[in-house]
Amino acid sequence: MELILQHELSPEAAAAAKLWCTELYSRVVDQCVQLHGGNGYMLEYPVARHYLDSRVNRIYGGANDIMRELVARTL
Ligand SMILES: Cc1cc2nc3c(=O)[nH]c(=O)nc-3n(C[C@H](O)[C@H](O)[C@H](O)COP(=O)(O)OP(=O)(O)OC[C@H]3O[C@@H](n4cnc5c(N)ncnc54)[C@H](O)[C@@H]3O)c2cc1C
Repeated sequence: MELILQHELSPEAAAAAKLWCTELYSRVVDQCVQLHGGNGYMLEYPVARHYLDSRVNRIYGGANDIMRELVARTL
């Protein structure tokens, strides 16, 4: 956030941040669904909504495979 405000966020750093945050979101929500059991899978519950939303985060805004490509180019 600080880098954005200072206009210093590079595309590579943005890709790494997008990749990291969305993968972590999916991992955490997956554990939340497990914790809630069957209720965590039912759309009446917010955790199920997060499960659905977390999945598309790894696709839109630049698919995470593409983010990996962008990060890999800097190595
Ligand atoms: C709910 C939603 C809202 C959206 N809103 C917007 C919006 O407001 N503005 C906008 O511009 N777009 C929007 N999109 C489009 C979104 O950005 C694209 O879906 C996304 O960029 C992925 O492109 P694609 O769906 O064509 O998948 P594809 O590019 O066909 O990718 C399919 C799969 O192949 C993989 N893949 C593709 N190329 C490579 C590669 N070179 N190496 C390895 N793997 C690869 C991908 O990672 C993915 O797993 C939205 C999509 C959704 C689902």
